[in-house]
Amino acid sequence: MSSEGNTVIGLLGGGQLGRMLCEAANPLGIDIAILDEQNAPAKQAHNTNRHVLGSFKDPERIKELAARSDYLSVEIEHVDTEVLEEIEKNGVQVDTKDGVVTHRPPIHPSWKTIRLIQDKYLQKEHFKSSGKGIPIAEQIAIESGDGALDSLKEAGEKFGFPFMLKARKGSYDGRGNYKIDSEDDFEPAIKALGTLPLYAEKWAPFVKELAVMVIRTEDNDGNLRACVAYPAVETIHEDSICTKVFMPPREVSEEICEKARKLASEVISTLWGRGVFAVEMFLLDDDSLMINEVAPRPHNSGHYTIEAVPYMSQYQAQLHAVLDLPVPEKLIPRVQSSIMLNILGGAKPESHHNLSALARGHFDEDMDVYLHLYNKVSKPGRKIGHITLTGFCSIEELEAKAKPFIEMVDEIRE
Ligand code: ATP
Ligand code: MG
Ligand code: MG
Repeated sequence: MSSEGNTVIGLLGGGQLGRMLCEAANPLGIDIAILDEQNAPAKQAHNTNRHVLGSFKDPERIKELAARSDYLSVEIEHVDTEVLEEIEKNGVQVDTKDGVVTHRPPIHPSWKTIRLIQDKYLQKEHFKSSGKGIPIAEQIAIESGDGALDSLKEAGEKFGFPFMLKARKGSYDGRGNYKIDSEDDFEPAIKALGTLPLYAEKWAPFVKELAVMVIRTEDNDGNLRACVAYPAVETIHEDSICTKVFMPPREVSEEICEKARKLASEVISTLWGRGVFAVEMFLLDDDSLMINEVAPRPHNSGHYTIEAVPYMSQYQAQLHAVLDLPVPEKLIPRVQSSIMLNILGGAKPESHHNLSALARGHFDEDMDVYLHLYNKVSKPGRKIGHITLTGFCSIEELEAKAKPFIEMVDEIRE
């Protein structure tokens, strides 16, 4: 408990997701203690004397955070799970006026979930063997070192070309991925990624990428209560980085959207702990779905919920789930359509300024415009903000109205 009596969630990581979590926590009187560097985007958005300075990978700092928190959660999955496991089992020692006591803050989602998801290969093996009929792309582990070349040849024979070579751990925004078009790519791929544990994935010839955010709740004994899905969205990736999100997906039937939500809930039901999760999937041309990967936290594809599902955004949902507060049985948006556009840093630090100005000056009965800047230093391709557009019209009509914004976002990337 904080000195004001507010519940304290200790958060590993303080980037834009943590910042938006703080923005949701502030009016609810929830205190968030952030473990990250000085002035990280989340620390700027929430004033408390509980922030911890350091890396969310540093076991000692994680224990320090645990000692001053009622609960622990993450805004990034690339954290040290060994220490989280230790905290759950043995707690941390805290000095109080009554002497040293053992303090054991609940961790949500569970370190087991975070550890599994960190390894994208094991994550999907888990889904495959869950017995729930969760479809994933065929995959094989790739040997490291001298065995890599033979193992890549085996992948080529098994999957044909192209196929995707991926780092099992630590990747984001497609940074650990290498598309293998032919045997000629083996050597450069090994050069680029060869020092990391790798796996190969059959190419997914998708027509669209969809994503569904899911709130997972369970009781304090780990019994699943519910998996509640937000609407399905269409995600657009350019150069492997998410640039746009459309709700509802364009030219996708309601039936498929419903199927995506059901599948996402099944996937998340196989994990452990409370919180919001993102399920990224591929829609194939026979209308079937395939799971790409899961994120155990609020996600870029769920930013739109801040304005489109304002009574329970993905950030408020994360707070409610972690603290075991009530969660709605259904998540119905309050608008008909929504588009989220990521603002990625351009060639110059000021490349996005015209876009921000456009967003600030746009008032229109038919389309509401919401600008979010994360106060991060702009670097080419870095996520520095986003714009959410909402409307009471079809997604196609909203897209037409959003044209000046979409064009400007695309220009910044050129
Ligand atoms: P994130 O930032 O979402 O964590 P990541 O670095 O973990 O990304 P992936 O989600 O594995 O990377 O892949 C990034 C993108 O690459 C996907 O959204 C998709 O566009 C493309 N992609 C990934 N795997 C495949 C595949 N097997 N076949 C075709 N395209 C793929
Ligand atoms: Mg990923
Ligand atoms: Mg991904």
